[in-house]
Amino acid sequence: MKRPLFIVFEGIDGSGKSTQCDLLFRHAVSLGLPAVRLVEPTDGRWGRKIRAMLREKEMAPAEEQMRLFILDRREDAEQHIIPALKKNRIIIMDRYYFSNAAYQGAAGMSPEGIIAENRKMNFPEPDRVYFVDLPPDRAMERVTARSDGDREVFEKEHFLQKVRENFLSIADERFLVIDGTGSVDQIFDEIKNDFDKLVISC
Ligand code: ADP
Repeated sequence: MKRPLFIVFEGIDGSGKSTQCDLLFRHAVSLGLPAVRLVEPTDGRWGRKIRAMLREKEMAPAEEQMRLFILDRREDAEQHIIPALKKNRIIIMDRYYFSNAAYQGAAGMSPEGIIAENRKMNFPEPDRVYFVDLPPDRAMERVTARSDGDREVFEKEHFLQKVRENFLSIADERFLVIDGTGSVDQIFDEIKNDFDKLVISC
C-alpha cells in the first residue's frame, strides 16, 4: 500500500456497526494488511468522561457534550489517528465526528454547524464511511436483547429516529449507506466488496 486508508463505521445504537467493524478489522488482518482498530469515544481521559456522562439520567447540554467530544477527538487524532496514517496503516474506526452531527444534532444543535466545527479543527478526513442503516425499532429490539440491562439515555426510539435522519442528511460522496436489516454475513459481504476495491486502489 502506497497510502493509508481511513475507514469509519457509523450508525445508530444497535444498528450492528460494531459487529461489522470487528469483522472488517479481522478481514484486513487476515489479508496481512497493517490495520488499526479505533473507537470513539476513546478510553482516554475525555472519552471516559463522555461515557460517564452518557450514563447519567440528566445529561449535560449538547454544547457541553460537544466540547468533550472535541477534546477527546483532538487527543485521539494526536495520539492514534495521525501517527497511524503517517505509518500508512489502515484505520478501521467505530464512530467519528458524523456521530456528533447526528446525536448532538438530535439534541438541538445544527448538524451542519457540528461538521463545520470539526472541519475547523483539521481532524483527518476518512476515505470511506460505512453507514449501517437500521430503523430504530429494529435497533432497539437488538439492544434490549443484550443481557447487560444498562440502557443508556441515548437509546430511545424517537431520539434515534432523529439521529438516523441526521445521518442520512449529512451523508456525502464518501458514505456507503448499507441496509442493516440483512444478516451479519449479507451486510459484511457488501462492506468487504467495497473495502477490497479501496485497498486495490491504494
Ligand atoms: P452497534 O455497535 O451499532 O450498537 P452491535 O454491533 O453492537 O451494534 O449490534 C447490536 C446487537 O445486534 C448485538 O447483540 C449483535 O450481536 C446484534 N446484531 C448485529 N448485527 C446483526 C444483524 N445483521 N442481524 C441481527 N442481529 C445483529
